[in-house]
Amino acid sequence: MKNRYRKHEAREFVLAQPACHPDLARRIYTSRLIGRESCLVLHGGGNTSVKLPKETLLGEMKDALYIKGSGWDLATIQEPGFPALDLAYLRRLRALDALTDEEMVNQCLTHLFDSASPPPSIEALVHAFLPHRFVDHTHADAIVTLTNMAEPEARLRDILGDSIAILPWIMPGFPLAKTVSACYENRPDIEAIILGNHGIFTFAETAEQAYGRMIHFVSLAEEYLHSQQQKKGGKKKRGGAPSPDPGIFLPLLRGALTRDASSPFLLHIRTNEVIRQRLDRERAREIFSTGVLTPDHVIRTKNYPLWLDVREFTEEERMAEAIASAMATYESAYTGYFQEQVAARNEPRIMLDSKPRLIFAPGLGIIGVGVTEKDAVIAADIGEHTLAAKAMGAAVAPYQELAAGHIFDMEYWSLEQAKLKKGKMLAASRPLAGRTALVTGGGGAIAVGIGRQLLAAGARGFLSDIDPVRLQRVCELLGQEFDPTMISGIAMDVTEAASVQQGLHEIVMKYGGLDILVPNAGLALVSTLAELDDLALKRALDVNLIGVFQMIKAATPIFRRQRRTGHLPAHIIINSSKNVFAPGAAFGAYSASKAGAHQLGKIAALELAEIGVRVNMINADGIFADHGISSGLWDVVGPDRMRSRNLDPAGLQEYYRNRNLLKTEVLADHVGHAVVFFASGLTPTTGATLPVDGGIAAAFPR
Ligand SMILES: [Zn+2]
Repeated sequence: MKNRYRKHEAREFVLAQPACHPDLARRIYTSRLIGRESCLVLHGGGNTSVKLPKETLLGEMKDALYIKGSGWDLATIQEPGFPALDLAYLRRLRALDALTDEEMVNQCLTHLFDSASPPPSIEALVHAFLPHRFVDHTHADAIVTLTNMAEPEARLRDILGDSIAILPWIMPGFPLAKTVSACYENRPDIEAIILGNHGIFTFAETAEQAYGRMIHFVSLAEEYLHSQQQKKGGKKKRGGAPSPDPGIFLPLLRGALTRDASSPFLLHIRTNEVIRQRLDRERAREIFSTGVLTPDHVIRTKNYPLWLDVREFTEEERMAEAIASAMATYESAYTGYFQEQVAARNEPRIMLDSKPRLIFAPGLGIIGVGVTEKDAVIAADIGEHTLAAKAMGAAVAPYQELAAGHIFDMEYWSLEQAKLKKGKMLAASRPLAGRTALVTGGGGAIAVGIGRQLLAAGARGFLSDIDPVRLQRVCELLGQEFDPTMISGIAMDVTEAASVQQGLHEIVMKYGGLDILVPNAGLALVSTLAELDDLALKRALDVNLIGVFQMIKAATPIFRRQRRTGHLPAHIIINSSKNVFAPGAAFGAYSASKAGAHQLGKIAALELAEIGVRVNMINADGIFADHGISSGLWDVVGPDRMRSRNLDPAGLQEYYRNRNLLKTEVLADHVGHAVVFFASGLTPTTGATLPVDGGIAAAFPR
């Protein structure tokens, strides 16, 4: 690992923020250097601090501890990411015999200088009790790899030298803070403290030195591990075993993950040559099925990954059985661990779900599992680092994982359990979290409303369109309202089977499956039957009817696979039309093709109920525009329809509003709400039609 500290850079960094204390600026500078190294800190697994005088409103000078606030990433941290705490007060807490975690958090929160600060890191007291101006803490891969072995002390000393102290695993919180400070006081000559199964603290009077010590010790550990790996290395076991088809494997896996779960999960697939080789090495299962590198990871990945090698099952049926059986074994082991640990403590705990969050699938790669994409990516990141660390460690000595009791303490920490309760409340406001949705005709106004409501309900949205320019405009518009990483555009021609299959394959490869399909692409034209052009009629049938058919046909195998190993319900919600029940003259091509699609929906409801797919239709009346995105359909048809009624085209919206019972304008968002209603599965409804038209008696479903 390179020391990236540059004196001139640090100097410029300090000069660039004149309002910031120079040492706080240096703290930010080296914190970012640390944050840049994923082998040092991964997703919040590390923290840094600096101790500085601070003037109060009354002009008194107080000692303050500036420590990384939770929710901030070291790589991009800024001044507000370092809440300041009353250092003298925190140090007095050391005199206590014990301090509960809740009270420790309370003491930190009530001794902030600014009540608007983010909550300080949970390791704040460790930083406070150490006397040094700068304290750096990471969960460096190479360090934890060396501590996760039997009797690591002699080896660590050999590699890192005498200027370190080594402590066994201690639960973060007050006891760890007291032990670390006592350890330093016994040996004031040390430059670093290694924490078993946890990480490393370095400290010094300058930012440069504290950071330099971190890089120095981690580099020594890395160099040693590399040299051992080069000597012994991992032998390749076998080559050429056929990889499972991810298009089949992933929906089956996704289904199995949702059996008896309250919400579906998104998958994140991480693969490359190195990952596949590692998963294929000799004794891979034995080496990589062990517990987490550091208990910090347990919240993200649970203690154990699920090892899922299905390469011997070429038949889909057998593969499904193997996945279901591996999942059941994993879940029963997890439940057993929970029950055993709770019984040993005699304290009630809310059990987390028993699903794995990290899956190693030889031949394919790493699969991260999460209700959100972010969670799935974090699990995969940790998985990738864990593979590398354990591969290096295996060349040195057998892996020694932390005892189940310690893992449980961390996984079921009261502070984490409190977060869980909050998370449940949040989940209730996002009924479609963990679900993927595809809306065709994604470049038009109605797709804006449908996309908006699906995203607001927590779904991961895909919009498809044949016109990439219109599609991009809608994606950008929604990206301004929501997290842009929650929306993707897919260029797709719904009339072409190959294009549709390719689009769906993209979604499966990205998240493992599909839950909500909204065939919404449509086109219209105005013509009496006498004047209707054959080709124009065929084109309308192609998009409005065949397009819906292609979507249903291509999505069905995905839905079936998800269902085969679980009970994940899926939804097809067809954007039909008020015209199906109330057709109009000179609108034959549109009405007939939409009526055909509507009928297809009813057939699909009959055929797909056995695999848990609900198919419903929404009959909306004319929708004109949304946020400047016009409805392509009405751009063409609106004025013509008005002229065919001998009305002024300019009065179009007014005309449509006045013709319904509620005298209301129908908006794209109304269609979106109807989609979310069906997709939430709140009522046992399939084959139904929901009008979204303000009430038009002639179009009442019958
Ligand atoms: Zn830590």
